[in-house]
Amino acid sequence: WCQLFSEPGAGSDLAALATRAVRDGDDWVIDGQKVWTSSAHVARWAILIARTDPDLPKHRGISYFICDMADPGVDVRPLRQITGEAEFNEVFLSGVRIPDSHRLGPVGDGWKVAQTTLMNERVSIGGSRIPREGGMIGPVSQTWRNRPDLRTHDTHQRLLTLWVEAEVARLTGERLRQQLVAGQPGPEGSGMKLAFARLNQQISGLEVELLGDEGLLYGDWTMVRPELVDFTGRDAGYRYLRSKGNSIEGGTSEVLLNIVAERVLGLPAEPRNDKDVAWKDLSR
Ligand SMILES: Cc1cc2nc3c(=O)[nH]c(=O)nc-3n(C[C@H](O)[C@H](O)[C@H](O)COP(=O)(O)OP(=O)(O)OC[C@H]3O[C@@H](n4cnc5c(N)ncnc54)[C@H](O)[C@@H]3O)c2cc1C
Repeated sequence: WCQLFSEPGAGSDLAALATRAVRDGDDWVIDGQKVWTSSAHVARWAILIARTDPDLPKHRGISYFICDMADPGVDVRPLRQITGEAEFNEVFLSGVRIPDSHRLGPVGDGWKVAQTTLMNERVSIGGSRIPREGGMIGPVSQTWRNRPDLRTHDTHQRLLTLWVEAEVARLTGERLRQQLVAGQPGPEGSGMKLAFARLNQQISGLEVELLGDEGLLYGDWTMVRPELVDFTGRDAGYRYLRSKGNSIEGGTSEVLLNIVAERVLGLPAEPRNDKDVAWKDLSR
């Protein structure tokens, strides 16, 4: 599966999306472009959001579909990342036909369905089940144990601080998953994903620093299209570069801070002037 949500003109402001879905008999015909689509090159199916009514305000004219990636109108092209790999893609949709039976939720209510997807995505990125010292903190802790020659007082202090923070984040994730058994994830998942991104970047940065010159070596920069998304595999350089995307994918850290501010802390919402304007009349 892959997720056809982001577009060149709609990332953080996802509801501005321009991919069109037009009804034709029992089918919908899809035209548009998606971008940053992880694993589109191996996906058999996609979840897709598209605009079904441009006359409505942007959040209301969107519908949610299941898209067959084998449709001849789907064109998947690799996008190479800072790591050298092309884990994600741009996806061009030209006259793709989707039967109405593959629509998820009512016509025009796709934004609500997409919110559920996004909240689950943030929990799955930020709060997946890992053992103690699993995830990003694992390799650097191992290096610390195996290489006493690299240790300094300063890096010792920083490693311990990050180790404790990683453990607190892991246990918080465990608690969040237990709450999930009883229902849908709430905005708390955004806090989890925020912590995950910050910690991954700090921990992988510490690992590179600890390794000194060795940390600057990069194993393999050949362009590959991996079958799985891997945050911690390969070497320290890979982990450092891959973690940069952690504060972008699944919602940027700035946007997640807004969500936590508004929906967890109850602070005033960002001013918005596009709530009651038809999507087609918005400036783009
Ligand atoms: C590794 C990776 C994998 C991805 N996989 C997928 C995928 O499978 N499917 C998919 O649909 N998308 C995917 N994405 C796309 C991702 O969801 C978007 O990149 C992200 O939502 C940001 O959108 P954007 O890139 O258009 O940046 P923009 O929205 O243009 O943001 C640019 C900058 O402005 C800031 N900004 C924007 N709005 C605000 C605001 N209101 N307040 C404060 N700051 C703001 C952002 O934080 C950011 O720093 C992936 C991205 C990455 C990096």
